Amino acid sequence: MSTSAPTTRTRVVREPQRGVYDREVINQILDEAFICHVGFVIDGQPFVIPTGFGRVDDTLYIHGSAASRMLKQLSGGIPVCVTVTLLDGLVLARSVFNHSMNYRSVVVLGTADLVSDPQEKLAALHSLSEHIAPGRWEHSRQPSDRELKATSVLKLPLRECSAKVRTGPPIDDDEDMSLPFWAGVLPLELVPRTPLPDPKLPSDIAIPDHVAHYSRTRR
Ligand SMILES: Cc1cc2nc3c(=O)[nH]c(=O)nc-3n(C[C@H](O)[C@H](O)[C@H](O)COP(=O)(O)OP(=O)(O)OC[C@H]3O[C@@H](n4cnc5c(N)ncnc54)[C@H](O)[C@@H]3O)c2cc1C
Repeated sequence: MSTSAPTTRTRVVREPQRGVYDREVINQILDEAFICHVGFVIDGQPFVIPTGFGRVDDTLYIHGSAASRMLKQLSGGIPVCVTVTLLDGLVLARSVFNHSMNYRSVVVLGTADLVSDPQEKLAALHSLSEHIAPGRWEHSRQPSDRELKATSVLKLPLRECSAKVRTGPPIDDDEDMSLPFWAGVLPLELVPRTPLPDPKLPSDIAIPDHVAHYSRTRR
């Protein structure tokens, strides 16, 4: 089992039994999640920006307009904290205090670098596209030189990272167990609805399998 040994910064202190450092678990969470939140500090002001991402092996990629402040700042090599969250359920307890959520989340610390190698840049964009909609890269026009120029890609090594996972029913206090309130878990799942073809789509283009059978959960 491959693990990212926790550092003093990534060892889960609060509820340590929920800390997971197994890289396979961390990768599964990253691959199932749609978005990450990128945290960084500029002139003493923290910013936390939501964005898409991709993963290739031990590297996380984020991309955006070459004009994006976030991308420009991060390519200068400032420390970054990237988080990813999957919400699996609402944990409804007998007491308000003990309500919680079932979740799987990841925190990655490090310094992001600009991807300058054109092949790595293309592979990173492929990973971003396939991460959001597997099968989409081949079912779309490939990026032009102009589009590639307008896009910056940053990479962050998955070196210093942790996962935290909560599962299971509510944990109520013994004295609350006989209270007449419903308690349990309301599972939540992200499920696709019926695809809506672009009104301008020619009628002879059918919905491809990767759209018709899109699934996000525990691939
Ligand atoms: C959907 C969701 C809802 C939550 N709701 C609450 C809430 O209402 N109140 C609350 O106090 N906490 C909540 N948490 C847990 C929260 O994320 C923190 O773990 C917790 O608040 C402890 O923070 P801390 O800074 O004291 O952690 P510490 O244990 O001191 O953090 C040390 C290190 O552990 C790792 N770590 C900590 N938390 C996480 C995490 N969630 N995922 C991956 N690595 C982590 C990081 O590397 C961090 O640097 C929630 C988490 C999720 C995903």
